[in-house]
Amino acid sequence: MISADSPLASQLNLLQAVVKAVKVGAIVLDADQRVVLWNQWMSQHSPFNGEAALGKTFVELFPDLENGRTHGAIRAALTSNFASLISQTLNKAPFPVFASPADAAKGNRMQQAVQVMPIEVTSSARHCLVQITDVSTAVAREQQLREKSRELESQTFTDGLTGIANRRRFDIHLEDEFRRAKREKAPISLIMIDVDFFKNYNDNYGHRRGDEVLTQVASALAEIVNRSGDLLARYGGEEFAAILPSTDEEGAISIAEAMRARVESLGLPHTHSGAGHITISLGITTLTPDGASDMATLLDTADRALYKAKNSGRNCVVAYDAYP
Ligand code: GH3
Ligand code: MG
Ligand code: MG
Repeated sequence: MISADSPLASQLNLLQAVVKAVKVGAIVLDADQRVVLWNQWMSQHSPFNGEAALGKTFVELFPDLENGRTHGAIRAALTSNFASLISQTLNKAPFPVFASPADAAKGNRMQQAVQVMPIEVTSSARHCLVQITDVSTAVAREQQLREKSRELESQTFTDGLTGIANRRRFDIHLEDEFRRAKREKAPISLIMIDVDFFKNYNDNYGHRRGDEVLTQVASALAEIVNRSGDLLARYGGEEFAAILPSTDEEGAISIAEAMRARVESLGLPHTHSGAGHITISLGITTLTPDGASDMATLLDTADRALYKAKNSGRNCVVAYDAYP
């Protein structure tokens, strides 16, 4: 028997106070997996208080966790003296512990980190400590940061009006794909797209209706450009551009023609254009880059083909021909 005023007794009191005060859940199980310690945090945050929990086995208290990872870690601690950290990504919230009674009512478990540690007890078989830490704040902060960075990333690479890739993304993608085409000695095609008589459209229908047309045209074009590696971007103003890696001229022509037909089929009225509705002109260039070729050539020749399409009556597709 320890006398109440012995140094050992005061040590024990202090220890009890500490276990009570800590802001983590602490459960100690004996060799039979029976609860011998259940701290105040556990009473506050789990469905059981100390009275209900003490003497019960782990599985009696948490039948859902039987033979799960935490239970396995407890067995490993008791029998093999193994410590474990239960991976948070695989087991988000194993224990029914809740930040508040409101969360408990809704069944919103606390985000938790669980550690299982063997503890040697003199004159008794090995026990183990299960420690549960509230990581909700850290998880929430991490999620916020992830969302923010995703948002920023999409803002800087997406055109605000049409939602497709912007010029910045286009430039980066073209550089990457041009380099790849050079390395793989594969063709790369570029389609430049320009809305016909668009200045007229704005003048007659207003800039806002003009914006709506650009959005509709972008969506229509995006339906056609959907192979992985392809990229449709707003190149500027009422101009769009499509990068088509590993695509020869024949393939690019058929995609461009599909784009032209798709936009025409939208039937967006434009009484001040030749066709009576919104149409686009498209210029194509295809190149299999070698040591001497550069990206500027690709852009320049696509532009020239587009110019020719404009001069050939608009609403048409022209492929760049080096020997006109
Ligand atoms: P063309 O058939 O030769 O292409 O004639 P166009 O009138 O389309 O050509 P031009 O380049 O002279 O005019 C382009 C117009 O596109 C001018 C500008 O008012 C309009 N535009 C450019 N960006 C936007 C935009 O973001 N929103 C709207 N509504 N109009 C835009
Ligand atoms: Mg233009
Ligand atoms: Mg135009």
